[in-house]
Amino acid sequence: MSEPPPLLSFRGVTRVYRGSRVAAVEGVDLDLSRGELLALVGESGSGKTTLLRLAAGLESPDAGQIRIDGRIVAGDPASRETPPEGRKLGLVFQDGALFPHLTASRNVVYGLRGMTREEKAARVAACLERVGLAGMERRFPHELSGGERQRLALARALAPEPTLLLLDEPFSHLDPALRRKLREEIRTLLGSLGQSALIVTHDPEDALAIATRVAILENGRVAQTGTPAEVYRHPANRYCAERFGPANRVVDADSGIEIWTRPEDARWLSCDLAHEGEMVTVEEVREMGPVFEVRVAPDHDPESAWVCFLKDAAHLRRGDRGRVAWRGSVDRVAWKS
Ligand code: ADP
Repeated sequence: MSEPPPLLSFRGVTRVYRGSRVAAVEGVDLDLSRGELLALVGESGSGKTTLLRLAAGLESPDAGQIRIDGRIVAGDPASRETPPEGRKLGLVFQDGALFPHLTASRNVVYGLRGMTREEKAARVAACLERVGLAGMERRFPHELSGGERQRLALARALAPEPTLLLLDEPFSHLDPALRRKLREEIRTLLGSLGQSALIVTHDPEDALAIATRVAILENGRVAQTGTPAEVYRHPANRYCAERFGPANRVVDADSGIEIWTRPEDARWLSCDLAHEGEMVTVEEVREMGPVFEVRVAPDHDPESAWVCFLKDAAHLRRGDRGRVAWRGSVDRVAWKS
């Protein structure tokens, strides 16, 4: 049997805004499979929101095709574009975009069509229960906390049982602790429902914590796709590496092979362990909560400073000499000693 088509697919999608000389997204090929939670990551202006709006039907592509569930919704020369309401999508925006004059229940019931009153009531109750808002049916949005409002927005988006959920920076107005809690809840909920979703986020932690797959956008193009572990551990280039915090470029002196390493994988070795790691000079030591952030300059490439997170570095001072080795795949590289 042949593979089912991707739930959402972009093929050669380009969008150039009126009055702009550069494309906001250009030649994008990207698939989202059923049950997948795909995060779009990239610096501000890289085209994340434009891609989400193209999927939603809030923007039209200037070139290329977009399919949802195998059906062309935009870019088919033979037929008109499918409007947003015909795409079976659920949308959650940064601020929730709730109706302020409607209660929680009425916000959720708003998008339900073709159901009896009883069916609607049952669906609303189930959705509010699912997001932990049972008992808050009669509250207005301003009577809910920031996290509760985002949960209500999620309940409203899920109520019509959308084919695909689109989330645009859903946590950006929340403080870090709440953000962490809510994204865990959402990940569990969407996973248990088998709900497919596309999420735009500028926060790398959101992407690594919530997504099953990540697509990194750079100047409107897809620079890399992969699981959170793949894009974190094996970035395609410096831009991709730096989306997820500090990364060190390590070049093997013999083979010229370039590898990106993460600060937490650094090991500090004293000078006499000459067979392992690279000789370095300490440039800066800063205590950062649970770890020391130690910047070192490797002898073979003093221009490139490496960032190391070390637990026991209280004794290190600027100018100290030692060796740095990397855990994981880099250890397999034949180091020049
Ligand atoms: P991101 O979500 O990654 O920050 P956007 O998709 O919002 O990126 O923007 C991509 C590019 O398109 C940016 O250069 C931005 O200035 C431009 N852009 C976004 N929306 C519009 C618009 N409505 N009109 C003109 N240019 C826009």
